[in-house]
Amino acid sequence: MEDNAVKRAAEIIAGGKLVIALTGAGISVESGIPAFRGAQGLWEKYDPMEVAHIESFRRNPQKVWQMLSELYQIVLNAKPNPAHVALARLEQMGKLTAIITQNVDALHQKAGSKRVIEFHGSGESLTCLKCGKDYSIDDVDLKQIPPTCSCGGILKPDIVFFGEPIPPYALEESFALAQKADVVIVAGTSAQVYPAAQIPYTAKQRGARIVEVNLEPTPLTGSVTDVFCQGKAGQILPAIVEEVERLIQT
Ligand code: NAD
Repeated sequence: MEDNAVKRAAEIIAGGKLVIALTGAGISVESGIPAFRGAQGLWEKYDPMEVAHIESFRRNPQKVWQMLSELYQIVLNAKPNPAHVALARLEQMGKLTAIITQNVDALHQKAGSKRVIEFHGSGESLTCLKCGKDYSIDDVDLKQIPPTCSCGGILKPDIVFFGEPIPPYALEESFALAQKADVVIVAGTSAQVYPAAQIPYTAKQRGARIVEVNLEPTPLTGSVTDVFCQGKAGQILPAIVEEVERLIQT
């Protein structure tokens, strides 16, 4: 971890008036949930581009639910890591207005973050494809594959599959924030899935500064990123937030 980049990132955040964060699967890797890129664990067995596509769900819900039940097993046992905790702390300090997350694991909320926009929906709730009835994940028997509604219809998690639209409220709120933000922290996203990846570009066009945290460079790094902090989000974000705290206290 480069100390200099952490210091520069903290100075930008401490001086920001409206700071937002855009997070992706990489921020939850240290909680044991594998990201799509990097093909670890679950994604060595299933091709995410196939099983996370809505057409696959419609064609073969049994197969997609096989993957989903394994994913739920991991996600429901996962705990927030220091990266999630650091962003929750930044919000408590009054230095982070909102998190826009592409993740469906609810770990930001479990870490204590209050304003979290779930850009790709949530795995915590499910809807019956036949009658539209809503279910909480706590009320669903995940041993039954695929899980069904009392009407016999198949349940689908309220997560946005490839080929599905972004929930309109999440899209509107996220881009409204991107237009007002003067700092965007982008952490653990490959910035390849659109329209989420558009958020930092939109903010930059309005003059925002971009702080990026990732193990490796992304398409943002050489274009809109002002400070690139290379390394694990679970180490870098706590270091940045600690430095922000020091700066705003002095
Ligand atoms: P991605 O899988 O495309 O990319 C992950 C990024 O995180 C990569 O750039 C990688 O270098 C980086 N990374 C990996 N480990 C890291 C760490 N410890 N610290 C910092 N960076 C790290 O993820 P994406 O951009 O979010 O896009 C994939 C889509 O998959 C998203 O839409 C998301 O909804 C979904 N997804 C969600 C989860 C989850 O909810 N936890 C898990 C897998 C996939």
